[in-house]
Amino acid sequence: MLSQQFSLSDPASQWVIVNKHRPLTPLQFVPADLAQPRVQLAASGEASLLNSTTAGAAEKLFAAAAVDGVTMTLASGYRSFQTQTATYDGYVSTRGQASADTASARPGFSEHQTGWAFDIGDGGGACSFEPCFADQPAAVWAKANAYKYGFVVRYPWMLNEITGYYYEPWHLRFIGVEAATDMAKRGIGTLEEYFGLEAAPGYP
Ligand SMILES: [Zn+2]
Repeated sequence: MLSQQFSLSDPASQWVIVNKHRPLTPLQFVPADLAQPRVQLAASGEASLLNSTTAGAAEKLFAAAAVDGVTMTLASGYRSFQTQTATYDGYVSTRGQASADTASARPGFSEHQTGWAFDIGDGGGACSFEPCFADQPAAVWAKANAYKYGFVVRYPWMLNEITGYYYEPWHLRFIGVEAATDMAKRGIGTLEEYFGLEAAPGYP
């Protein structure tokens, strides 16, 4: 058993589960403690921010990667409801809703709005936000080590029927060191399975 339990519904909780069945509540939630981590930034404005707990953990994660000779950049962090709305609406207008739903979360349904998640880059831009990023040193290192700093690769390979998203080797989510380590040791791939929640392959 874990020593501490957290809410799965409160977006200020490090265990909040946001997926295509579970929007943020409130839908326009804004973290109260947004902060810019002292890491190598490949993002600016709100996208360079995380909630303060995640920012602190990210600093440790990036520093540990650097010790191992791996360059990691913060490619995209916090995304406000308003930004997500603009992004999603842009996809809908050019591609239609069905295609937009495969490319972008609907407003209020993105983990990026919680402040608990961010995307990494490798500083060189190779395979940025593409499946082949999985083979880049930053992603290989993160997959093997992120749990030690409280992070999980939120959308693993071949588990899109549970998470609702295809493999995103760049998208890390903070849940705390204890839970992330427990998940890794037990070989559980998704937060939905770990917390006993229903699969969320698509919007209801
Ligand atoms: Zn992401």
